[in-house]
Amino acid sequence: MHYYLISILGSPLESFTYHSKNIIIIGKKVQVDFKNRILFGVVLSICEEPKFATNPILEETEFYYSSSQLKLAKFISIYYFCSLGDALGLMVAHSLEKTVFDGTLITDIKLTSKQTSALEFLKKEKVSLLFGDTGSGKTEIYMRYFESIISQKKRVIFLMPEISLTPQMGIRLEKQFGESVVIWHSKLTPLQKRKTMSNIYSGKAKIIAGPRSALFLPIDNLGLIVVDEEHDDSYKASSRPRYNARDIAIYMGKLYDIPIVLGSATPSLSSFVKFPHTRLKGGYISSKKTFIYEKSTENISPMVLQTLQTTLEKNEQAIVFVPTRANFKYLICGDCGHRVECVFCSIGMSLHQKSRALKCHYCNYTQAIPQVCAKCTSPNLTTTRLGTAEALKNISQELPNAKIEQFDRDTITTSAKLKKALQRFNNNETDILVGTQMLSKGHDYHGVTLAVILGLDNMLNLSDYRAREKALASLIQISGRSGRAKDAVVLVQSFNEDFFNHYRERYEDFLEEEKLFRQELYPPYKKLCRILFSHKNGAKAQEQMREMETNLLAMPNIEVVGSGKCAIERVANKYRFEILLRSDKSTDIIRAIKATKVPLAEVDMDPIEFG
Ligand SMILES: [Zn+2]
Ligand SMILES: [Zn+2]
Repeated sequence: MHYYLISILGSPLESFTYHSKNIIIIGKKVQVDFKNRILFGVVLSICEEPKFATNPILEETEFYYSSSQLKLAKFISIYYFCSLGDALGLMVAHSLEKTVFDGTLITDIKLTSKQTSALEFLKKEKVSLLFGDTGSGKTEIYMRYFESIISQKKRVIFLMPEISLTPQMGIRLEKQFGESVVIWHSKLTPLQKRKTMSNIYSGKAKIIAGPRSALFLPIDNLGLIVVDEEHDDSYKASSRPRYNARDIAIYMGKLYDIPIVLGSATPSLSSFVKFPHTRLKGGYISSKKTFIYEKSTENISPMVLQTLQTTLEKNEQAIVFVPTRANFKYLICGDCGHRVECVFCSIGMSLHQKSRALKCHYCNYTQAIPQVCAKCTSPNLTTTRLGTAEALKNISQELPNAKIEQFDRDTITTSAKLKKALQRFNNNETDILVGTQMLSKGHDYHGVTLAVILGLDNMLNLSDYRAREKALASLIQISGRSGRAKDAVVLVQSFNEDFFNHYRERYEDFLEEEKLFRQELYPPYKKLCRILFSHKNGAKAQEQMREMETNLLAMPNIEVVGSGKCAIERVANKYRFEILLRSDKSTDIIRAIKATKVPLAEVDMDPIEFG
């Protein structure tokens, strides 16, 4: 009899011993009985016969995890503090089917001399940053790089923040590479998923494009990973394992010995500091952009309406950016200042007029809109922080002939809805799109000559060490969506004109200055790690936090920056506490947490959320 250590896929628990009379290869995907449920597991290693009775391995599948996948899973489990089963659960196994490659694909893409020298630079580096303005032709450079990788009989992973939000990129890739491209994302139907996997297994798929989960597809002969829009926060997973796909791609570069290209018009300071870059400015779009600033925060002001009106009179189109969904973010008592909060979360409820309700954007709890203040019974309730729905309502009232659409997660719920909304906009059936961050996600709106940007100061004032980077990047990304064909106006509501106007065309100067602010304190110069404790019983969460903090304080080479209640004290009826750690090296953080971890602790390495 042979004995094996098996990790159960998706299980937070560590490995278990099973037996089989067969010799099974390491990495094989098998079926086992786990607490009376038939589950998939992965053979991690051969082991000695244990002293306790073991269950048999029920069945061997025709799938296996490669040694590189096992190494990657091991890294993820250590660095991001999850079980191997959790880490392997991210990955799709290889098939025993033999992959066949032919390697010729010729595109008709012509590069300018600037683009050609940028490509040459990228080809020389292990990890490199393509720092190119919107419209400077980054995608053409990627595609020529893909072509040369494919001619070496190798394949490419092309990561995008949210592929379901960028159907246009899929179309561009398919136009050049036809059936050699597969698009992978969570909204594929089971049939589409099977077809895609079969193309990956057979070797027909040579360019695998998708969001962060595409990194974990079983791709033999991987030759290149491109991480487009590398600054985007959606590369970071918000639940366990809380990995950052950009950082995993860089790790995979070392593991597979392949080049990694990071691309952005507004690169993260972290990539800018760590990797060599090539700069592409302006590009082949020669239209002019005029920036106008209005001292306001979020307000459909006479100036906003006037600028919209002028644009519509010229038969041109506009986008209006508002950071918040719903009508208003908060409902507040005008007499006592009491804010209506969710029953289950310590967060203000957002006002959704269409459904005549207050909704919590954290736990989705919904309640009727109260008529009087719960604290002082005053009927004088006021709203603050304008949202997309209210902005749309205000504009429609003043410009009744304009055709306006809302463009956010409340309205664009499927990729079909997205495709149609973009189609209507590009066919001039819509005049104005009012939306959130979704507006900036790489869509190509060719007719837009006005971008109105509201609420930037609210982003700038967030208590997040990256607030300046995020607000400025948003301004550049959104204004980059306008003026692709004609001269354009960008109207920005902000009290920080000096900051935004100075740096919007000098992002590298901003990054240089930001270096000084971050040194000694923040990433990329220091490693941060947030440890969360959440429980229905607040005293228990707090007690566990205190216990771990006491032990952490005795550990070498790490600093406890702070501890206590989270900024959002309660979510979905669980009380939340946190510890924030800082260190020069992640290894010191990992060692300290390993030695002191309590059951309730959830570790967020390299956190980007501090709520
Ligand atoms: Zn009140
Ligand atoms: Zn809630």
